[in-house]
Amino acid sequence: MNKQGFLVVTGLALILAVTQQCGSGSSNPKIFTSEPEPKQLMRFGLIWDSLNVDSGVVKSGQTLSHLLDPYGISPGQIAKLAANSTKVYRVTSMRQGKQWWLGSSRDSVPVPLWIIYERNNTDYIVFSLKDTLGARLGTYPVDTVYRRVKGVIENSLYLDLENMGESHLLALSMSQVYDWTIDFSHVRKGDTFDAYYMQQKVNGELVGMPEILSSNFTHIGNEFKAYRFDQGAGVDWFDPTGASLRKAFLKTPIEFGRMSSGFNKKRFHPVLKKVKAHLGTDYAAPTGTPIRAVGAGVVTKSEYKRNNGNYVKIRHNSTYETQYLHMSKRLVKVGDVVKQGDVIGKVGSTGLATGPHVCFRFWKHGEQVDHRRESFPPDTPIRDEMMDEFAVEVVRLELEADSVFRLQGL
Ligand SMILES: [Zn+2]
Repeated sequence: MNKQGFLVVTGLALILAVTQQCGSGSSNPKIFTSEPEPKQLMRFGLIWDSLNVDSGVVKSGQTLSHLLDPYGISPGQIAKLAANSTKVYRVTSMRQGKQWWLGSSRDSVPVPLWIIYERNNTDYIVFSLKDTLGARLGTYPVDTVYRRVKGVIENSLYLDLENMGESHLLALSMSQVYDWTIDFSHVRKGDTFDAYYMQQKVNGELVGMPEILSSNFTHIGNEFKAYRFDQGAGVDWFDPTGASLRKAFLKTPIEFGRMSSGFNKKRFHPVLKKVKAHLGTDYAAPTGTPIRAVGAGVVTKSEYKRNNGNYVKIRHNSTYETQYLHMSKRLVKVGDVVKQGDVIGKVGSTGLATGPHVCFRFWKHGEQVDHRRESFPPDTPIRDEMMDEFAVEVVRLELEADSVFRLQGL
């Protein structure tokens, strides 16, 4: 599968497209014909082939005046254009490296009519250079592409997807769906993934984050299916029984870290050179990697201590607390209220540490426990009255994912 092999389809047209692919190939008889109208080439909402077009890229230090000056537009007109446009776009925000087009009339003496500035990969501004000096904001049409990716873990989800020519953003989207259920720093060779997702495409380029529609990750023989559904409170992912994949605590405080040492009551300490209980789980990651609060709560400690280095402790409720050690930087202070996933510090090796990692400690009723052995109740499941609708959506997503997969193989 190559990167360009994306299918541009709309959800509704999809099943139809499959049916047509499977047809006998005989073309339908034409019932009526009409003279095709001579097609005008439209671009930016303008009749593009009625214009003489110059184009270029904004160079370092160039402003709108620099672009328009060669076309005989006076400083007074440019000032008026800038003033008339402020509500749509401040011309001083133009950036080096962005594309522009200037359209003039096709007369013997061309009259400059429009200048278009591409603000980003989805939006552009059309400035009118005629008597009505002003601007309007335009947006490129957005396509949605649908794609399904299946594979087996050889190295890590991130690397394996990359080797398949997939964007690393897909690994990120998947890790977000499974943030509460699978520790992606701990996947095994032989685990399998199967993700059906959609992504936006503008001018032939994929933009934004891939959105997982359905997914199945098999971790040590256990299937973790996820289906995207909105029961009125925003999009979330649920297992086939309608239970939420979201839980009170994230599996790990860092995304894509590597578990370097587990919870162990009889560990030989690498620095102290003696047996000492390790009442936490270490995740190795480069210095500066963001550390996330695994659950919502209140910061009860944010300080430096000789062994812990820079560390933060959070109280989540009357039962649970979590603690994060050896930070290079603390980003919260005592009393701060944090949400699940908030970045509370950066990975470091302060205190008693051999290399950059976060030592993550989980407290239950004031005692340290191995969080990987705890099971936490899931968040809000699908409500009873929504279960039928959810069941239909599960079937629809399964069929759609199969159709997309077949089309990709053609
Ligand atoms: Zn540790």
